[in-house]
Amino acid sequence: MKRLDSRLFLSPPHMGGTEKEYVAQAFASNYIAPLGPMTVEFEKRLCDYSGMPYCGVFASGTAAIHLALMCLDVQPGDRVICPSFTFCGTVNPVIYCGAVPVFVDSEKESWNMDPDLLEEAIVNETAANHRIAAVIAVHMYGMPYQVDRINTVARKYDIPVIEDAAEALGSSYQGCKAGSLGDYGIYSFNGNKIITSSGGGALLTKSADDAKRAVFLSTQARDPKPYYEHSVIGYNYRMSNIVAAVGCGQMDVLEERVRRRRQINQIYRRFLEPVEGIVFQNESFPGVYSNYWLTTVLLDQNIFPEPEIIRQKFEEYNIETRALWKPLHLQPVFRKMGCRVYGGKVCEELFTDGLCLPSGTAIDDQLLGDVADLLISCKKG
Ligand SMILES: *Cc1c(COP(=O)(O)O)cnc(C)c1O
Repeated sequence: MKRLDSRLFLSPPHMGGTEKEYVAQAFASNYIAPLGPMTVEFEKRLCDYSGMPYCGVFASGTAAIHLALMCLDVQPGDRVICPSFTFCGTVNPVIYCGAVPVFVDSEKESWNMDPDLLEEAIVNETAANHRIAAVIAVHMYGMPYQVDRINTVARKYDIPVIEDAAEALGSSYQGCKAGSLGDYGIYSFNGNKIITSSGGGALLTKSADDAKRAVFLSTQARDPKPYYEHSVIGYNYRMSNIVAAVGCGQMDVLEERVRRRRQINQIYRRFLEPVEGIVFQNESFPGVYSNYWLTTVLLDQNIFPEPEIIRQKFEEYNIETRALWKPLHLQPVFRKMGCRVYGGKVCEELFTDGLCLPSGTAIDDQLLGDVADLLISCKKG
């Protein structure tokens, strides 16, 4: 294989074609910003898609998580239980609230938060007299967590669940869409996600009041007065009409994108599953349907070199690959804060052995085969 002339990214934006028309409509209406008909339309389509009754669209998925925490009135010193194996965007909003994240290890099967360890964390933190304000559960790389078990544990202790479906738009659990499986659902439309609005996020909720509150807080918390009056601190988090127009266009191709991500995963499996020392993230539990946002593999280091060596090898061919998430309990910033972790070994191993493969939906099948061959060629000896 030759070095590629144009870089093969892990998960670049993939426009469907209608985005430009929606943006042109937004221009024609002169609703460039802030809000406008596209914002309303995007929210409606996300409600229709997810099955959640209320939705607000915002500047990012991270902002949407922050707003969910504020709807729950998370206070300084509160505990919020999160997986350690996730992107920092899941957890940073906990810090914005002055609350304390408590990390929970992954289960081996799905790589998502371990329900038994979640319960252990709740029992322990409660015994230490901490108020647990929320659980944030994440569908990692699009793979649904064990929704029934996580919800059962959370309900047993009367703790609300924020479902971080940033990576899981199009995934489902027992026929229900990711984003509708917790008390609050979160999507991200960042550039590398399954669809992108060029950047943005959504908060889905079952409560009209919460949706209103989130929008209120995201627009500088202006009290209903003819002049600017503020009784609480707000944020400038709302999504603009132009950004929402791109999002509407991407909704037109969402199902197609999910189908292709799953197909990409299948093609990689065909090449790589027979190879000794390669293990995929699997739909291990009944009812679980992943959008396979990224195809990810674990590499046995008796057979393959460490993932960083492989990443560098792919770089020589102008192909982007990436390590799996570095666990948050190992991140300098959270170590400094002395955050607790329950378990930790499973996600540490995922980080040590894992690699994300190029999974963008515009990639052609030939190139997928080349990537697979290149990975196989990295085998030791
Ligand atoms: C991308 C992502 C976020 C944050 O979304 P942004 O839109 O980038 O702020 C949060 N959680 C997870 C798991 C993500 O992958």
